[in-house]
Amino acid sequence: MEEYPHNLLDLEQQFATDQACRAYLFQLRWPDGFRCPACGHDKAWDLKTGGFKCVRCGHKTSVIAGTVFEGTRKSLVLWFRAIWWVTSQKNGASALGVKRILGLGSYETAWTWLHKLRRAMVRPGQDRLSGSIQVDETYIGGEKPGKRGRGAAGKTLVVIAAQEDGDATGRIRLRQVADASARSLEAAVQEMVEPGGVIKTDGWDGYNGLDALGYRRRIIRKTAEVGENPLPLCHREAALIKRWLDGTHQGAVSHEHLSYYLDEYTFRFNRRTSQYRGKLFLRLLQNAVTLEPVGYHNIILAVRGRRPKHKM
Ligand SMILES: [Zn+2]
Repeated sequence: MEEYPHNLLDLEQQFATDQACRAYLFQLRWPDGFRCPACGHDKAWDLKTGGFKCVRCGHKTSVIAGTVFEGTRKSLVLWFRAIWWVTSQKNGASALGVKRILGLGSYETAWTWLHKLRRAMVRPGQDRLSGSIQVDETYIGGEKPGKRGRGAAGKTLVVIAAQEDGDATGRIRLRQVADASARSLEAAVQEMVEPGGVIKTDGWDGYNGLDALGYRRRIIRKTAEVGENPLPLCHREAALIKRWLDGTHQGAVSHEHLSYYLDEYTFRFNRRTSQYRGKLFLRLLQNAVTLEPVGYHNIILAVRGRRPKHKM
């Protein structure tokens, strides 16, 4: 199924009711018809609640059970609006913006929704970049470059992998890492790039082991400090990410939650040339109904982070 709304009016007309939203999710979740999540059977009774009861094993489920929408007390109509705002705008949406636009009662609700959706933006086991890749690190949350390998107070180190497409950037991957040690950098590169790829870096020792891991490393720049004279594609990406965090999110992103924002940035950047914004809406919903649900407390616990601070 490749049907998606093309504009706001489309969205409002197609998804005016909870029922219409559920029917759409059903198609995304079970394109070949209902499957019992417990036993795999393909026949179910319809329940008055809108859910299903498996004819064979009696398991009760619904189209949102086991998805990011599980347990929500709000209408899916509102969720669909939120997803539309996040995917249709070039820079996405902040929690404050979503709260205002949807008329949600609490900032925390909007914040939690956006975090749940970020979880659905990058699927586990996503494909890795291949070809020729520039790799460099940048500090987020600090003004001055820091010493490599030691970490810097109040700053988060992020590894940027930018695929070369002529002089431009193809696709990207981003990873938050603990430090610039060989161990951290090698693990990050292995998650982001297919073996066999050409990895272009500066002269930092932390990348010395890449050849032994099946990559072809090329040193294209000599430098000592993170953030000084970085590789061009990575430099451009670092600037865009910082501008986005400072602009759309007004610098309110804590270090504990940064990796989820990086996922959102990656999701949007890698689809920036998509002709139809509605496709992002479709992709996000597809992911949202096939990933494990994450509750507010799980988000907090998983990242050991603080509760969102500002309540405006
Ligand atoms: Zn069953």
